[in-house]
Amino acid sequence: MTIQAVPEPATRTEHLLFLDRAAVRTCAAGIDPVAAVEDVLRAHAAGHTALPAEGYLPWANSQGAYCRSIAMLGSVGAADPTVPTAYGMKLINAATSNPAQGRERAGGVSFLFDPETARPAVVAEAAYLSALRTGAYTMSSLRHLGPERFQEVTLIGCGAQARTHAELLARYFPDVRTLHVHDLLPERASAFASWVEGSELPFTVVPHGRAAEAAAASTVVITLTITDTGYLSPDHLRPGTFVAHVSLDDLLPEVFDRAQALYVDDVELVRDNPRRVLGRLLGEGRVLGPGTPKPGTSTIRGTLGDVLTAAVPAERPGTGVVVSNPFGMAVLDVGLLARVYARAAADGHGTRLDLLGADR
Ligand code: NAD
Repeated sequence: MTIQAVPEPATRTEHLLFLDRAAVRTCAAGIDPVAAVEDVLRAHAAGHTALPAEGYLPWANSQGAYCRSIAMLGSVGAADPTVPTAYGMKLINAATSNPAQGRERAGGVSFLFDPETARPAVVAEAAYLSALRTGAYTMSSLRHLGPERFQEVTLIGCGAQARTHAELLARYFPDVRTLHVHDLLPERASAFASWVEGSELPFTVVPHGRAAEAAAASTVVITLTITDTGYLSPDHLRPGTFVAHVSLDDLLPEVFDRAQALYVDDVELVRDNPRRVLGRLLGEGRVLGPGTPKPGTSTIRGTLGDVLTAAVPAERPGTGVVVSNPFGMAVLDVGLLARVYARAAADGHGTRLDLLGADR
């Protein structure tokens, strides 16, 4: 009988790298977030990602405010097999009462896992990364599906996402000069205008008292609210408008009925969530999934990944309205964090945490 030697527990260390928001920001400044997001979208379209069902835990806090935790696992590889797969998770929580207390509504952490030991290897502040990947997705959709030329953009909702979108618009669309903005709370729109004024962003901010007025002011409309009640109808949108429906419940069903073209990030993710308008319309058969055209019924053209891989043609707004409805994919956070981590490792950013402490 042979007795197999049990390996010595020589390395009883459990380290992970912590990247706070400042470190994430510094590392992200050294990468191209739109290129990173487009790589993941192409990998997703090619089937080189895994996106398990998300965990969702809602509750009400002592003020009766809605709170929720969303845990989203994902892995992303590349079409090129020499590029290693990244495994990770985004945990993003929110309480609707946070902003009134001076706190961002949503916050959390994202992880990368060691592919060999499966241990969490990196933990990073998630809200900035989440806003960055969401904004980067919008920039990519605008690049491929937006009007050929535009100098004015409308942002409806002036919270955290609006700021990241403004930063990315300045970087990727330097022709843009004017931001038309609206927020249900006028003080949020004013705070956004003051923030832009105090920054180096090259924009004139024009606040509008009504969402419809703001939407009609430009041909690029980005919804960044937290509404669950639609308020934008086709009549509010100019012919030739591109809508990035980031907050997912702002467009009334008629906008989807009459859309010139409709794109998503992942058809099943959208379909599986009837709490959001497009998921509901898909469930009712009022909007159809790709590949099943029926005269008179709106059909999803495909995903942005399909556009990037040329599997589906890109259609820019002509006389109609093109809608991008990204549900939000954790694989984008994981893929982006992998790039951020590579920078952090190369430049020595972050704090090493010892999980075991003296208990070894
Ligand atoms: P936030 O709370 O920081 O800001 C939201 C702003 O919208 C607030 O200023 C609020 O006053 C305003 N608002 C709420 N209802 C409004 C309405 N009906 N009209 C006009 N303004 C209104 O939120 P955030 O972190 O900036 O996120 C914005 C949205 O983006 C959220 O709905 C979030 O879930 C969504 N999001 C989507 C994706 C995606 O991939 N689809 C990813 C991340 C976040």
